[in-house]
Amino acid sequence: MYRTHTCGELRIADKGKKVTLAGWVQKSRKLGGMTFIDLRDRYGITQLVVEADAAPELVEKASSLGREYVIQVEGEVLERESKNPKMPTGDIEIKVLNINILNASAVPPFTIEETSDGGEDLRAKYRYLDLRRPPLQRALALRHRLAQEIRTYLDGEGFMEIETPYLIKSTPEGARDFVVPSRMNPGTFYALPQSPQTFKQLLMVAGYDRYFQIVRCFRDEDLRADRQPEFTQIDCEMSFVEQDDVLNTFEGMMRQMFKNALGVDIPNPLPRMSWYDAMDKYGSDKPDVRFGMEIHEVTPLVQGCGFSVFDDSPYVGAIAVPGCAEYTRKQLDELTEWVKRPQVGAKGLVYVKLNADGSVKSSVDKFYTPEQLQAVASACGAGAGDLLLVMCGEKRKTQTRLGVLRIEMGNRLGMRDPHVFAPLWIVDFPLLEWSEEDGRFYAMHHPFTAPKPEHEKWFYSDKKEDLERVCANAYDFVLNGTELGGGSIRIHNADMQKRMFEVLGIGPEEAEYKFGFIINAFKFGAPPHGGLAFGFDRVCALFGGQETIRDYIAFPKNNQGRDVMIDSPSKIDQVQMDELFLASTVKE
Ligand code: ASP
Repeated sequence: MYRTHTCGELRIADKGKKVTLAGWVQKSRKLGGMTFIDLRDRYGITQLVVEADAAPELVEKASSLGREYVIQVEGEVLERESKNPKMPTGDIEIKVLNINILNASAVPPFTIEETSDGGEDLRAKYRYLDLRRPPLQRALALRHRLAQEIRTYLDGEGFMEIETPYLIKSTPEGARDFVVPSRMNPGTFYALPQSPQTFKQLLMVAGYDRYFQIVRCFRDEDLRADRQPEFTQIDCEMSFVEQDDVLNTFEGMMRQMFKNALGVDIPNPLPRMSWYDAMDKYGSDKPDVRFGMEIHEVTPLVQGCGFSVFDDSPYVGAIAVPGCAEYTRKQLDELTEWVKRPQVGAKGLVYVKLNADGSVKSSVDKFYTPEQLQAVASACGAGAGDLLLVMCGEKRKTQTRLGVLRIEMGNRLGMRDPHVFAPLWIVDFPLLEWSEEDGRFYAMHHPFTAPKPEHEKWFYSDKKEDLERVCANAYDFVLNGTELGGGSIRIHNADMQKRMFEVLGIGPEEAEYKFGFIINAFKFGAPPHGGLAFGFDRVCALFGGQETIRDYIAFPKNNQGRDVMIDSPSKIDQVQMDELFLASTVKE
């Protein structure tokens, strides 16, 4: 038997027991004649002690142990003289009677402890060593726990876990597809799925009325902001449901995950906010509702007073930043530069300071009386001591910029505690989004999303304004300013699906080539259905109170989409290229 206990298990109640442990040497140190060794496995760390009067061979063996050696020790559980209340095993230590070196280790390239001295690249190269560190082990344990909760809950609700293929057909719509050349069918390619969307809908046609899968998805996107080319979705679909059925089922799942994995109770039912309200109040379709500082439209209050910048704008909006009236000129200049950065894109920023003594000071004092500015302030719910930040321009763009500023101010004021959770549903999304650049509509969610039945009349209209008004039964699950998931009630009728492709400017031939299989399937008794998918990596990260998903993926890619540990992607040899009928145009 390699071990009787793990390295995280022994307590004072085990005092006097003879035990065998196995694990990695985190570190060892000499004190007087004694050798102390921290032995680690994924359950914890136990202190070993080789006493000064132990057999000389044992003392020598203990001295020979390097970091990350794998050893087995036999010994006796002793009560520690100086206890360490920070460690679960801190009341005891093991008096070592025998050491068996199971494997030596090269000197690790960085320290394998709670925090490491290794840089990101180095740790990525030796990911298997980084994965030995407790924070990563906790992250993967949380991921495992959540996956189990999901399976238990959905199984209990009658969902079947069904796998769908990874080698499918290229139908680029949202992101770029990864493609795989087919050796057996020269000159043709599979694509890796961006999501199992069409397959889960086909499973509904096939009568499997509650489906789920914890499934890998692939998108060949530029990896800005914490994205991975392969990521995991909790993918779900249900038949004979309306929007409420889907939302109730999946907020139930989230409730159970919060409760069982974190001990957190989330509201029942969860708040729901329309897309229009989210944009108007938070300037974002994924609002962080842990703090207020909502956006208020003040257009009528500021126009007609001679300030042409506001007079010429279709929209003027403001946020009231609590307790920031004391911002200095320098701070305000810095903030103005901040909103002018391309990432925010504002032309400028107007401020109104509501001083504690009741006076008002603003960057537009020339145009407005203190009373007029006070009226703007009270429209925004601002009081003495607050700072009003005002922007103007096209409505949605300005709201979005105010939304970005709001998040920034929330961060600066410490209002975004990652261990406070405020989930909600965003509902009633517009079905379509007009792209000025491309002069066409895009599906806001995806082309399989159904218009709200009461909006169908506009869906069949040829007028752009009508089409812009169509709402979808689409919904997003949002947590703390992050979209964790989304879905919709689907089109289940071949004619409506064809109309959707037409609206999106996908001609009948292209629709037939790319999506003929699903249009055809809809001719054979497709049931009404709907579903959603959650981004599982991000769910894990947010539950863990972290912003980045990389720690929650055992073997992630870096920002360039590379796995530096296995050195991939990499070249293939000419024989393989020839077999696949591929020629490279890359100049060596
Ligand atoms: N397939 C969709 C996505 O990946 C989710 C859904 O509509 O179920 O975003």
